[in-house]
Amino acid sequence: MSANPPAFSPIPRNELRLQQMNQLYAQSRLPQWLLLATAALITPLAWAQSSRDSLLLWIALLGLLALMRQALVRRYWLASTQDRLQRRWSRYFHLGNLASGLCLSWVHIGLTPLDNFPLQALMYSIAGGVSICVGVLYAPRYAAFASFMLPAWLPPVVYLLLDDAPSSLIWAQTGGLMFCFILLAAALIHRTMRNALITNLRNEALLGNLSHAHQRAEELNHQLTREISQRRQAEQSLRDSHDDLEERVRQRTAALEKATYDLQASEAQLTLAMEASQLGLWDWDLSTDKVYHSRLNALFGMPDEYVPSMRQDLRPLVHPADVTTVRRTLVRHMKNQSQAYRMEYRVRHSSGQWLWVEDSGRAVERASDGRVLRMIGTRRDISARKHQDEQAQLASTVFEATSEGIFILSPTLDVLAVNQAYSVITGRAREDAVGRNILDISGSDDLRQQFLHLQHMLKTQDRWQGELTARRRNGEPFPIWLQLAVVRNAGGQQTHYVGFFADLTTHRQTEEQLQYLTNYDPLTQLANRSLFTERMQDAIASARQHNQTVALLHIDLDRFKHINVTLGHAVADGLLQEVARRLSAGVDSQHTLARLSADEFVVIVERADDNQRLADLAGRLLESLRQPMLIAEHELVTTASIGISVFPSTARDSLLLLTQANQAMQHAKHLGGNRLQFYTRELRAYSLDRLQLENQLRKAIDEGQLVVHFQPKLHLASDRISSAEALVRWQHPDRGLVMPGDFITIAEETGLIVALGQKVLDIACEQAATWCHQGPQSVAVSVNLSVQQLRQEGFAERVRQTLQRHNLPARLLELELTESMLAEHSDQVADNIAALQALGVSLSVDDFGTGYSSLAYLKRFPINTLKIDRAFVAELDGANADNAIVLAIIAMAHSLSLKVVAEGVEHEGQLNFLKANGCDEVQGYLISKPIEAAAFTQLLEQNTSQLLDQDS
Ligand code: C2E
Ligand code: CA
Ligand code: CA
Repeated sequence: MSANPPAFSPIPRNELRLQQMNQLYAQSRLPQWLLLATAALITPLAWAQSSRDSLLLWIALLGLLALMRQALVRRYWLASTQDRLQRRWSRYFHLGNLASGLCLSWVHIGLTPLDNFPLQALMYSIAGGVSICVGVLYAPRYAAFASFMLPAWLPPVVYLLLDDAPSSLIWAQTGGLMFCFILLAAALIHRTMRNALITNLRNEALLGNLSHAHQRAEELNHQLTREISQRRQAEQSLRDSHDDLEERVRQRTAALEKATYDLQASEAQLTLAMEASQLGLWDWDLSTDKVYHSRLNALFGMPDEYVPSMRQDLRPLVHPADVTTVRRTLVRHMKNQSQAYRMEYRVRHSSGQWLWVEDSGRAVERASDGRVLRMIGTRRDISARKHQDEQAQLASTVFEATSEGIFILSPTLDVLAVNQAYSVITGRAREDAVGRNILDISGSDDLRQQFLHLQHMLKTQDRWQGELTARRRNGEPFPIWLQLAVVRNAGGQQTHYVGFFADLTTHRQTEEQLQYLTNYDPLTQLANRSLFTERMQDAIASARQHNQTVALLHIDLDRFKHINVTLGHAVADGLLQEVARRLSAGVDSQHTLARLSADEFVVIVERADDNQRLADLAGRLLESLRQPMLIAEHELVTTASIGISVFPSTARDSLLLLTQANQAMQHAKHLGGNRLQFYTRELRAYSLDRLQLENQLRKAIDEGQLVVHFQPKLHLASDRISSAEALVRWQHPDRGLVMPGDFITIAEETGLIVALGQKVLDIACEQAATWCHQGPQSVAVSVNLSVQQLRQEGFAERVRQTLQRHNLPARLLELELTESMLAEHSDQVADNIAALQALGVSLSVDDFGTGYSSLAYLKRFPINTLKIDRAFVAELDGANADNAIVLAIIAMAHSLSLKVVAEGVEHEGQLNFLKANGCDEVQGYLISKPIEAAAFTQLLEQNTSQLLDQDS
């Protein structure tokens, strides 16, 4: 494109010359033909005028020239472009023109007669005209023009000028003039032709340029087309790849959407699964100690959105018993000794409940040194499962431990499981039963039939129970009580039969035993109260019918309670069995001997007409019981009291008969025991009296009818009244002053003794405080206690309050206990005694020597004083009295650092003996009877002044 030629560049000379030459040659044949045509015209004209030879020569010459020109032109057109620019082509051409011009000028000179004007003019015109035409044809090339025109024109002009004929001059002049015009015309033509040629060339060049430009344009067009198509291709491929990309994006998006959907679905499933499994997820960041935890509320009762701290919030909730296991498991995992861990422990829910949780987790991030940075895991409440496990455990324990045989059957009666009791009862081992059909192991055709029948029945009902005869493995038949239950699944189909059976062999035995137990006393094998009542009613009924008498002997052991308390139940039971044996031996078999309660026995004597015989019987029984008995290495002597009542003489019915016998027995006891007593009318009055007394005593305590008398104790070494014993009396509104012997027992039996004892304690302390604070001198007061008081919880505390209330120092109070109280193996009694000692209160043992005297309790308990029973002191009276016991007691007491007080000192002799043998204090009528407080105060004053007198 840069080679685009300028529109008007100068035409190269060679190009112009070549074009001019081509033009010249292209028109070069026509002049020859014109000359031949001239010859053809001239010849006839000149034929007659001129020599024929010269004419023919001229014609021949013209013909030759024409042929030569023909050949030249042919050769020129065959020559190459380069060759055509050779000078020879114009030279040959000019030579031909010269010859032709000359030939034409010959017409004027040689052929035209100068004297024949018309011919001359005609011939001149023809020749002149032809030369003008040829001149015009050669005008574009000056050399060709000149090479023809000059020879054709100049010779005739010169010839005519030189001719003398007048017309010749004119012709010469005309010819000269014409030549000038021809020159002018030639110049114009030349210029025009030249310009045309140049224009033509220019146009050609332009055309060339144009075609070049066109070609170029075409090329560009091509290129453009190519580029466009390339671009189109590029565009297409771009579009394709864009489409492809879009498609892939679409696919990818779809895949992503699916993945997201799947993820959401699996997330939803996970959430559902977690919900269903009740899993709490936790994520513990150990660097911050924060725990991100789901289901916090369910597991710990914390708000779900709370982020607890492991150390502060969660760890303290672990059950103390599980803390060690939890820590050990965690440490093991943190030390990388386990891949993951799973453990079960209890945590405290905010509601205060302990929940069992299952905790699994593992470390997911560790520092380079192995330290755990983050842990994740799950925690779930398994309390229900634990509970189920426990239940299952319980069920299986019950299954195994129950004494009933249990077997579980499939619907086709195959044995699926049996318990231990099944094996024990049937003698068939578990392995021998499980897997076999119950019909095959039932052992008898009869039982097989029954099972088949039952199976049929259980199609319509879910339970059956009844008695069957089964067979043990050894073939022995035995009765069972079988309960069959059907187990159904949710669809109501029978899945199992469960059978429970009890071996009725033992049941029967038990029934017999029970039957026996309902009528007999298992300890003594005697008839019990129920059989007694039955026999008694029968006996009364029969006696009524036959007008006979029935006697009832009510036997009660004396002081049995003491044996029970001191020697224990085993010895007491042994004693009761021995008593039962002796009674059985003494009672005729036709009489009924029964045991009613602990130590109460009764004998029903039918047809008891003779009181003396009854008395003999009772006497014999008492005698047999009195004999010492050896029970568990203890030699025991026991006595009994027997009350006798007789139907119909005193009692009208069986109930009354029993009551009267009981009252008679009580009376015998009251009289000291070891005796028999018939029920009499007086006894009835007495017992009514007792009932009355009991009611009155109740009132007496509340209404302040109780008074306390004080009996002094004389300190022998100083001869001073050092202390006093408080003894209760009842100031009865009708009966006057009632002594304790008449109401203490009732108070004991009714429990009133506790209130009574507290009253006496209160009065005694008040009085002691008065003496202590108002004189004449301090006196220690001793108060008698009942065992029932000591058995009371908080008794010592009440004593402390009483002392405090009256502002009495504890050392001025002494409490008197009996040996049986100390012998009682009761924690409460021991606690009270210890607490009393701690208070600083003194303790003494009353009536020492009458009970089951044992050194052991003297050592065990914090006793300060022994009071020798009145009975031993009374012994000191006799002439040949045995003083050994009193001496022994004094010696023993002193060896244990105990003070000794002798009770019931009535005579000087006793006093002297005691004084002589180191007894510390004496109490008794010799010193003073128990007296009112005011009298005691006087006594004190006397004693004090006596002492002062002695001193002075
Ligand atoms: P005890 O504890 O052995 O009291 C001594 C008893 O002997 C008193 O009889 C007293 O009057 C009597 N006595 C004192 N010196 C002589 C004497 O020289 N010769 C004779 N023959 N007797 C003498 P009392 O007052 O009739 O008391 C009888 C029993 O009643 C007491 O025997 C005691 O066991 C009980 N008793 C009295 N007061 C209470 C009390 O407040 N609470 C309790 N639980 N029992 C009490
Ligand atoms: Ca006493
Ligand atoms: Ca006493």
